[in-house]
Amino acid sequence: MFSFLCFVPKLLCMKIFCVGRNYSEHIKELGNEIPDEPVIFMKPKSALLQPQTPFYYPEFTNELHYECELVLRVSKNGKYIQERIASKYYDAITVGIDFTARDIQNVLKQKGLPWEKAKSWDNSAVIGAWVLFPNLKNKKEINFGFYKNKELVQQGNSNFMIHNFDFLVAHISNYFTLNIGDLIFTGTPAGVGETVVGDELEAFMEETSLLQLTVK
Ligand code: ZN
Repeated sequence: MFSFLCFVPKLLCMKIFCVGRNYSEHIKELGNEIPDEPVIFMKPKSALLQPQTPFYYPEFTNELHYECELVLRVSKNGKYIQERIASKYYDAITVGIDFTARDIQNVLKQKGLPWEKAKSWDNSAVIGAWVLFPNLKNKKEINFGFYKNKELVQQGNSNFMIHNFDFLVAHISNYFTLNIGDLIFTGTPAGVGETVVGDELEAFMEETSLLQLTVK
């Protein structure tokens, strides 16, 4: 027996950046205002669901929402990155779920408090299989879709983002050093909604299914 064949490598990640309010239809559905500059929040690396690990509905929420998003993988360390060369700082893309305890977030937002309890808990960041940028047909208009129990509930295209990938990378790097392995969740389109135990979730980029998850 070659037991090392059964070893599943851990997903390495340093920091997880998330972009809020980056698609105008989603901003409308939550009744928020279109921001002048990107809304950035973070999840710790303990938020990343590891491969072959079940996803359990957290006990502290009664309103768990999915937010399907395109996720970039940072491939180069950098600070004060200029937008025109920002594409050199990420090498792969996938679809991910920014799980959100919406009931908790609503209370925190009302009180003007930070979002971590609603957004940054263990396993709240789920990512699919990586696709390398050179393998993408059209890097500017990337379609993605999210299915709940085989029904299409979210559909997005990177072309509809208020702030595009390169702008986001440049902007984030003005505040935070980007490190190899950092992840950037680039915001969710309209159609966010509730998910419950037993739901089967699946996310596509173009025609390829990159992420499958059952809520336990
Ligand atoms: Zn999000």
